[in-house]
Formats: sequence, structure tokens, C-alpha cells
Amino acid sequence: MKKASSKHVRVAFVVALFILLSVFSFISASGNQPLFYAKLIWSLVVSYLGLCIYRRGSISRYRSILFILIAFFFFLEFKFFRCLSFGKTIPPYCHIAQAPTLFNFVHSQFLAITSGQWRVWGVLTLGFFWLLIMFTIGQGICSWVCFYGGLDESCSKIIKKPLIKLKIPYPWRDFPIAFLVFLLILSFLQGLPVFCNWFCPLKLTTAFWDKEPIIRFSQVTFFLLFLVVFIILLPALSKKRTFCSLICPFGALVSICGKASPYRVTIDKEKCTLCGKCYDMCPVFAIERQKSDEYKITSYCNKCGKCIDTCPVDAINIVVSNNLAAIPFFKQTKWQIEIRDIFIFLSLLMTGVMSGSFVPRAILQLIGIK
Ligand code: SF4
Ligand code: SF4
Repeated sequence: MKKASSKHVRVAFVVALFILLSVFSFISASGNQPLFYAKLIWSLVVSYLGLCIYRRGSISRYRSILFILIAFFFFLEFKFFRCLSFGKTIPPYCHIAQAPTLFNFVHSQFLAITSGQWRVWGVLTLGFFWLLIMFTIGQGICSWVCFYGGLDESCSKIIKKPLIKLKIPYPWRDFPIAFLVFLLILSFLQGLPVFCNWFCPLKLTTAFWDKEPIIRFSQVTFFLLFLVVFIILLPALSKKRTFCSLICPFGALVSICGKASPYRVTIDKEKCTLCGKCYDMCPVFAIERQKSDEYKITSYCNKCGKCIDTCPVDAINIVVSNNLAAIPFFKQTKWQIEIRDIFIFLSLLMTGVMSGSFVPRAILQLIGIK
């Protein structure tokens, strides 16, 4: 596989050191001595993977390792250890649930303000953190920060070459937005989290099951169906992230709000030879083949870097939109720092900080320190 441009070893080390210091200073604020060292180890892991990205110029491979590690530790800490009653930790605020219940959430905040119950605003703070990430790296959340996305990504790595070629006719790529609108309306009318009650496979491990046996059976059937088809089977056979790209309502929300982020993945038409490799490799169906046989990267792009690593003529890159490109900060410097490098730094920083809230604890539990 062809690699994107790599950095001089000195530059790569300096950027990796900067990632280490930034992530560690954000996550080391509290905790006992073992937790302090676990946080240091996790910051080192994140910065080492950053070093590999900058030094070797391969974005997707090392991003993917980090992404899958986060999902693994998330399930270890909040599902496996909790089931075994090792840990009593509360899972982080679920951003997937946040998207389809946005109307309910705004409504409850309105009630909280008008009734004087300001403490309810506590949850909103976490919502703001996700908003900050959304406006910074946009849909990059779905391939860097999200602690669930590593599930279908890890299944998509099981085999080397796809056994089925999954193509989605372009209008169907908009399905998650229609699904999000449906969920928003139904959740608001029912006053219930409809996605959590019926469609989220992750609820197999938590208490979202109804007391009525028939409804309970139907819920489990739906959860299992979504788990087996969209998270395990289709990703394993096609190497595409089918749950994230065809179902996830949070992904749909980010594809709209993420347009506020300055970063875009674009194809240089002058360089492109129309080989179609990026179109075949994109794991989330974000590249559209146009009538003119040209390829266009759409707003569903997760900025995973796979097409950048794949393109044989270096025609794809991460750039900033509109007039931002004219600002000196975004121009290439003598230190070879490009826009792509700034995006990768921000993504690693946010991923490190977010995962730093649970991965170090999971590492300690794994080696028997509570
Ligand atoms: S992989 Fe590169 S050259 Fe091939 S179609 Fe995509 S952008 Fe063009
Ligand atoms: S278009 Fe490229 S960067 Fe965007 S999701 Fe697809 S492969 Fe990843």
C-alpha cells in the first residue's frame, strides 16, 4: 500500500512529544499513584501511534490500531468488568443516544431552567464537549474519537480481501439522516429514547429491556439482528463499516453539524487518474462516482485517511475550507507542518483526552489493581 508523505524523524519526534505532553496534562489532573502511571502509559501509547503516523506517513493503519484499542478498553471497563462486578464505573455520556433524543434533551433543559432546577444542566456540559469536537474535527469523530466505532472497524479487519463487494446506491447513503429525523420525532412524541429501546445492539448488556415478555423478546431480537448483521457479518464480509455508515444516528448528525469544521478531505483533479481505488477502499461509502466518471468526497467522509494512504498518485489530502487556506498558520512551514498534520494532531489530542477518562482505569483492572 502506498503511503502518504512522511516527516523527517526530528519533526515527527517533536510533534509526538507535543502530543504526549498535551494528552498527559489534560488527563493527569486527578487520581492515585497507580492511576497516574497508567495515564502516563496511555499518553505514551497515543503519542507513539502519533509518531508512527508522522514518521511513516500511513494515517489509517495507526489510527485504526488506536481506534480499536479504545473500543476494546471501553467494553472491558464498562461492560465486561461491570458484568463481573469488578468495577462500579458509570459509562461516559452516550453520544449516540444524544443525537436521536436531541428534542427531548432540549425540552428537559427548558423545563429545568423554567423550574429553577439548574443542576440538570450538568449533563449539558458533556454535550458541549462533544459539540466542541464536532466543530473542530467534524466527522473525524467517527473514525478517531468514538469509543463504539472500533467495533465494526475491528470486524472489518478480520479478512484481508472483501468476500462481497458492497455498493450502496447513492440516495441510500442518506438513509441515516432520514432515520435520525424519524427517531427525533418519535422519541419526542413518546418521551422515550426509541433508538436505545429498539435499535442499539449495545443495549444487550444494559437495562433497556421492557418488563413485558413479548416486548422484551422483540427488543432482544432487534438488538441481536443489528449486532450480527451490521456490526459483525457485513463488516467482516465486505470490509465496510456498515453500522457507522448506514445506521448510526450520531454519524448522521455529525455529517450535518460537522460541516462547521474547517477540515476537508479533497481530491486534486489535476493529479487524479480516475483509477477508482479510493472509491473501492472507503469504508463508509463517502466517495461518490459522478456521471463524468470523476470521484467526489462527500460530507459523510470520516477523515479516516484510508483513501489518502491508498491513492497511488498522492491526489488526496486533508485541506482547510474556503479562505482559511490563506491564513499563514495553515500554510506549510519550513518544519514541513501541513494542514493534514494539524488535523491529525487535534484528532489524536481529542482521542487521547476522551479515552484517557477510562482506558487507564481499565489497564489497572486488567492487571489486577483496583
Ligand atoms: S485513488 Fe487517487 S488516482 Fe485513483 S481515483 Fe482516487 S483520487 Fe483518483
Ligand atoms: S473518503 Fe477517504 S478519508 Fe473519508 S472516510 Fe472515505 S476513505 Fe476515509
